[in-house]
Amino acid sequence: MAGKVNLNNVSIVLHRPRYPENIGAAARAMRNMGIEQLIVVDAQNCDLTKICRMATHAALDVVEHMQVYDSLEEALPEFHYVVGTTARLGGQRKVISTPSRLAARLLPISALNQIAIVFGPEDRGLTNLEIRHCHALVHIPTAEFSSLNLAQAVMVVCYELFCYRDDGKDAKPAPRLANRQALDEMYAQLKDVLMRISFINPDNPDYFMNNFRQFFSRLPLRAKEVSIIRGLCRQIDWYGEKCRRDGHSSGKD
Ligand code: SAH
Repeated sequence: MAGKVNLNNVSIVLHRPRYPENIGAAARAMRNMGIEQLIVVDAQNCDLTKICRMATHAALDVVEHMQVYDSLEEALPEFHYVVGTTARLGGQRKVISTPSRLAARLLPISALNQIAIVFGPEDRGLTNLEIRHCHALVHIPTAEFSSLNLAQAVMVVCYELFCYRDDGKDAKPAPRLANRQALDEMYAQLKDVLMRISFINPDNPDYFMNNFRQFFSRLPLRAKEVSIIRGLCRQIDWYGEKCRRDGHSSGKD
C-alpha cells in the first residue's frame, strides 16, 4: 500500500503575520489540501472579519479552531519536528530542502510525531534567531524574485504534502522523537557546560551552539537519547566540581 504524509499530525504556524487577509487565505489553502491545524503567533492584525472573508465558509472551522500564541517559544514546545520556510538563502540558512523533498522526509516522521511548519512575516521573513527552532528549512524554488505571498507559500507547501505518495517500500515509521522543549533544555544545558569547560567561546556561545544545533538536527533524537546527553552534561559538571573540591587542576587556567 502506498504511504502518505499523515496530515492530521501537521500544523501550519504563521509567525507575526501582518495582514489578516493572508491568515484567511492560508486557512483556505490548508482546507483545500486537508490540513486543519492553524497556529497564529503574535499577529500584527487579527481582524476576524477580514480573516473570515478570505477563508470563505469552507475554511471557517480552520479559523474557529486556530490557536493563538504570543511567541514561538510558547507555540512550539510540544512539537517533535519543526520546519522553517524561507525565501532567502545563504548565511546560516544551510539545511535547505524543496517542498517535495520535505514531503518525502516527513512521511515516516508524521506517523508518530507532531510536525510544525513555520512561515515568517510578510515584510522580513523568519530571522536567524527564529530559524534556530527549526530542524529543517524549506525553500520554494522560483525565478529571480524569490519572495512569494505568504498564503501562496502556505499553499505550495501544503499541496506537496497532500500529493506526496511513496511506493510503500520504505514504509517503516520513524520513532517518536524528543519534543522541542526537551531539545531546548538540552541545548541550554550543553551550552552551559561547554562554556564552563572552555570548549566554546563564552564571548559568542550562540555561534558555536549553532553548529551543535545543526549537527543534532540531522539526527532523529528520541527523548531517551536527549536524557543520555543531559546525563553526560551533569556528569561533566559533577566531575569538574569534584576536581575543584579535591584541589586538582583542570589543566586549563
Ligand atoms: N521579504 C521576506 C519574504 C517574506 S514572505 C524575505 O525576504 O524573507 C513571507 C513568508 O512566506 C516567508 O517568511 C516564508 O515563510 C514564506 N515564503 C515566501 N517565499 C518563499 C519561498 N520562496 N520559499 C519558502 N518560503 C517562502
